Amino acid sequence: MTARYPHLLAPLDLGYTKLRNRVLMGSMHTGLEDHPRHFPRLVEYFAERARGGVGLIVTGGFAPNIEGWTSPFGGRLTTHAAAARHRPITDAVHAAGGHIALQILHTGRYGYHPLAVAPSRIKSPITPFTPRALSARGIERQIRAFVRCASLAREAGYDGVEVMGSEGYFINQFLAAHTNHRTDDWGGSYANRMRLPVEIVGRTREAVGPDFIIVYRLSMLDLVPDGSSWEEVVQLARAIERVGATIINTGIGWHEARVPTIATSVPRAAFAWVTKKLRGQVRIPLCTTNRINTPEVAEQVLADGCADMVSMARPLLADPDFVAKAASGRADEINTCIACNQACLDHVFQRRIASCLVNPRAGHETELVYAPAVALRRIAVVGAGPAGLACATVLAGRGHRVELFEAAGEIGGQFNLAKRVPGKEEFQETLRYFARRIEVLGIDAHLGTRATAEQLVAGGYDEVVIATGVTPRDPRIDGAEEQRRAGRVLSYVDVLHGAPVGRRVAIVGAGGIGFDVAEFLVSGGHSTAVDLPAWMAEWGVGDPGVARGGLVPPRIEPAAREVYLLQRKAAPLGKGLGKTTGWIHRAALRAKRVTMIGGVNYERVDERGLHLSYGEAHEKPMLLEVDTIVLCAGQEPLRELEAPLRAAGMTVHLVGGADVAAELDAKRAIDQAARLAARL
Ligand code: NAP
Ligand code: SF4
Repeated sequence: MTARYPHLLAPLDLGYTKLRNRVLMGSMHTGLEDHPRHFPRLVEYFAERARGGVGLIVTGGFAPNIEGWTSPFGGRLTTHAAAARHRPITDAVHAAGGHIALQILHTGRYGYHPLAVAPSRIKSPITPFTPRALSARGIERQIRAFVRCASLAREAGYDGVEVMGSEGYFINQFLAAHTNHRTDDWGGSYANRMRLPVEIVGRTREAVGPDFIIVYRLSMLDLVPDGSSWEEVVQLARAIERVGATIINTGIGWHEARVPTIATSVPRAAFAWVTKKLRGQVRIPLCTTNRINTPEVAEQVLADGCADMVSMARPLLADPDFVAKAASGRADEINTCIACNQACLDHVFQRRIASCLVNPRAGHETELVYAPAVALRRIAVVGAGPAGLACATVLAGRGHRVELFEAAGEIGGQFNLAKRVPGKEEFQETLRYFARRIEVLGIDAHLGTRATAEQLVAGGYDEVVIATGVTPRDPRIDGAEEQRRAGRVLSYVDVLHGAPVGRRVAIVGAGGIGFDVAEFLVSGGHSTAVDLPAWMAEWGVGDPGVARGGLVPPRIEPAAREVYLLQRKAAPLGKGLGKTTGWIHRAALRAKRVTMIGGVNYERVDERGLHLSYGEAHEKPMLLEVDTIVLCAGQEPLRELEAPLRAAGMTVHLVGGADVAAELDAKRAIDQAARLAARL
């Protein structure tokens, strides 16, 4: 179906080699890079994506020396012996017809270790270590390390390297006056500040020869104060082209930027316009990036002339066969990345191996294998939320005969609620994926059917998987029952299904769902995740041709309601949210003037509102005069089928929220369900 995605699937001729299409698998640190013992896993991880048709894979970052480490003993490529250990990776990718480049990542002041170096001795806001300012000789040593790393990559069989020059890392730190306060030949004027990348790329080209890909990742929109101006971006791009780069890839936002750049609330292809601005300024191919997660979006971006290639990292974690499916007319079977960050980036920041919420095999390809079942069985899966869907589809994919029961009239469970939250529209894609899998695999799905124990026993199944999920916890606040009847107290389920909510609202419980409901209520039904101009205004993203780094004052629309978000713990609200996304939710609610209060007791509810007190001594009683109180106090497992089925001698498995409701989350539910399904 090349006709359907003619731009995306067109080969890219680089002269000495040809990439089979315009998909670049963007660099994504998985943690597997950090120890050679993980390399066999890395081999399979990349080989699967190469078999899936990716044009050019870029590895996670490897440091060119220990000063450039991400963290102590992080992955680096500095010796011939290390290069030899990479051979199986490059061989496997080549055997699958792919191309692969090694990313050279020097973290500079972002290094999480005491050996970190930088242009100037200025600590970053996101790391505890103050870097050492390099001498001129020290800078020379760093350049030589980059060049040697590239030569070793060539020796290891890579088709090229990506020089990481963006996201606020070492090279970027030289470029921006924000972090480069030097007064020698490496600081001051822009010509001096950009000397470092120009030297690195130019000398790398000399060392590796003409037939080796050099991708330069150029920060086109820093999103930090005192970032690069657009003239500087263009000047650098031209210089980099002149000294021998093959492709320029786009970098958006430093890691310390306070603007979200890849979270699910960022509109799709939100930054493709930035790359487009550079088109025509250089002749080499440009690659655009960030929140491009379907072949349709990727095709559109290319058709609109924004770039010559698209970079996708997380979408290829979610589905290694993304390209092959698009090419064979099966785009509706793609398991789409929902940009949640929960199993990929959040894991990396917790120093765990990256995986994917919607595809638990990512990063675990050698150990979580969906092999054809040896003994085929009849299996009933009860509940079609994320856990039930993952279980049923993996089981059926392995050859088992699966019947799926769901009390509601549609599949999805809690995802049907999540998709209604502004900024979580992507969750719909997971449901589309599962619905299509059910169709393709011929799973017998009984929607609108509450399976009873008698029915399941009579069905004579070999196994029953209970994935019946959760029910909202009732926090049993005095007077709540009466006010519930008056429509003044609602559960989050009612609210997300559209129950009328007043102007002043108290939310009881500030977990993931409390935050989601607060966003739902202040948004007034308008999601900026599907309105790029509104999103840019809200987060203060502007044209870098007008404002350095693309930062302009944010313009926040007034909140649709006055919201109080409450919890009993005295800890800051939102502490348990995702590591890389929690700050976005907190910042979004602060901008909408949501009042967050911790350490409260819920004394009672009456027609005037919610009565609170503080602390163990129930001090400082106060009344929150609100029209509506929304309960978001967590969940309890729903598993009443378990006991009667066990009593009848059936083999029963519990997965997802039905197993453990506390801290229920889709990542754990899908992972647990898929692992069970791989075993049965
Ligand atoms: P949760 O994260 O466990 O939060 C429950 C909230 O209710 C807490 O704030 C808790 O705080 C409060 N609570 C618990 N028992 C209570 C009681 N008896 N009375 C009053 N308050 C009580 O659960 P959730 O918000 O329902 O979310 C469920 C899961 O969905 C999350 O764990 C998360 O994994 C996932 N999720 C994540 C996100 C995200 O990260 N963006 C968004 C949505 C859902 P106190 O005990 O301090 O009062
Ligand atoms: Fe995408 Fe979430 Fe998977 Fe990461 S964990 S790849 S963001 S779906």
